[in-house]
Amino acid sequence: MIYFDSLASYPMLPEVSEELRLTMQAHFANPSASHMLGEQGKELIEDTREALAESIGAFASEIIFTSGATETNNLIIKGVVLPLLLKGKKPHLITSVLEHKCVLSISNYLESLGCEVTYLRPNFRGEIKPEQVKNALRENTVLVSLMHVNNELGTINPISEIGYICTTARVPLHTDAAQSYMKIETDVDDLNVDFMSLSAHKIGGPKGVGAAYIRDLKGLDISPIIHGAGQEFGVRGGTLPTPLIAAFGTAIGVFSNYYSLQQNMELKQQLLIGLQKLGVKYRVNGGEEVLPSCISLTLPCSNIEGLLRGSHQSLALSQGSACSAGSIEPSHVLTSLHFNRDEASKTLRISFSHINTAEDIQALLNEIAKYTKC
Ligand SMILES: *Cc1c(COP(=O)(O)O)cnc(C)c1O
Repeated sequence: MIYFDSLASYPMLPEVSEELRLTMQAHFANPSASHMLGEQGKELIEDTREALAESIGAFASEIIFTSGATETNNLIIKGVVLPLLLKGKKPHLITSVLEHKCVLSISNYLESLGCEVTYLRPNFRGEIKPEQVKNALRENTVLVSLMHVNNELGTINPISEIGYICTTARVPLHTDAAQSYMKIETDVDDLNVDFMSLSAHKIGGPKGVGAAYIRDLKGLDISPIIHGAGQEFGVRGGTLPTPLIAAFGTAIGVFSNYYSLQQNMELKQQLLIGLQKLGVKYRVNGGEEVLPSCISLTLPCSNIEGLLRGSHQSLALSQGSACSAGSIEPSHVLTSLHFNRDEASKTLRISFSHINTAEDIQALLNEIAKYTKC
């Protein structure tokens, strides 16, 4: 099986699986326990907290562990908005139509409870411009939530400039950095963000663990989504999963030994030159500056559904659409770029990782050639 789906989940790194195996066996104690075994587990957790904080230019006291970026998005957006709704206020949230599905469902839910929501629309490349945020700000805006890198196109939003506008207007900015973390620069001060969502399995770590960065956590009134026994500064209840967090720390430590700009560029180049040589018509979506390990391609003369069916057992690819309730709906991201149903169905998201080789690209090109007429 050739894996071209690292944006859905990055292949687990060898050091990570080794760390998981070891900690699963040795660190079964509850890390909140006050005996030595508990303390040893807690130490591993605090090591990861330190490493994570350092990797984004934050303090360890501003990091909360969660089950992943989905939960973090819930914690931050609901944590800010729900207390205001409960107090009878009418808060306003700014987000965009091409956010990850979870942010859209959180926003829709809050809207149903009386929150005002502005859904910004991207330009044809899939970017949100700082000007749009500026124009959307209102007296009652309590949060701006915009993703750093889009998970279907790889497009990079100008978060730093947007953050500058938000800071000036004294409105907090949240960015979902699940796709950008460790792949491009994600320093919280450079990006001017107050909240950030991270996920371990997008950087070769285990699924089921992620983190929230919350600037100045102690001074904020964030209400928990999961109430518990006081873990994570009272912001997120539940026994911390020592092995998952330790392995997350390992991924943070070694990911950059694997993820290579050079390798990603070469694979992308080889793919595009290969398509040109074959005479396959294609269009690259998302503009010039996208995440190096991602490419979204529309192939107007290719039978992408046939390709996906035919290569189901040999290639792991992602179509620009998601199956829901038996019918294939075009992806909300592509729809927001005004793709029609046909264009969306002819769009492929190909995402690379360190395990991909030139032979993999050749195999992909051979498959595409089989399903292309013209
Ligand atoms: C993968 C992803 C998520 C979901 O993260 P989980 O840790 O799987 O919950 C959220 N946002 C973006 C941009 C993602 O790519």
